[in-house]
Amino acid sequence: MTNETDFQEKKPAYYILDNCTRCGRCAQKCPLHALVPRQGHYRIDLRFCDGCGICYDICPIGAVEKGSGPEQST
Ligand code: SF4
Ligand code: SF4
Repeated sequence: MTNETDFQEKKPAYYILDNCTRCGRCAQKCPLHALVPRQGHYRIDLRFCDGCGICYDICPIGAVEKGSGPEQST
């Protein structure tokens, strides 16, 4: 079953802060298309995100924050 509960429950490797301006740069670069526009900002759909950190590196205003979930080791 796929629903909002799935979206919320997994621990995020990264998440988007409310100062996101919805510029869309992260969404253009995310290889898994895990960034979705939602309530005036972008959000990470954790069903697709693998924690690669590209969005964290690319956001020009630091609106992507590291979370407590698994990250890919580099
Ligand atoms: S790059 Fe940053 S400001 Fe732009 S949409 Fe992504 S999180 Fe928001
Ligand atoms: S961490 Fe990687 S996979 Fe997850 S939303 Fe950011 S760019 Fe996409």
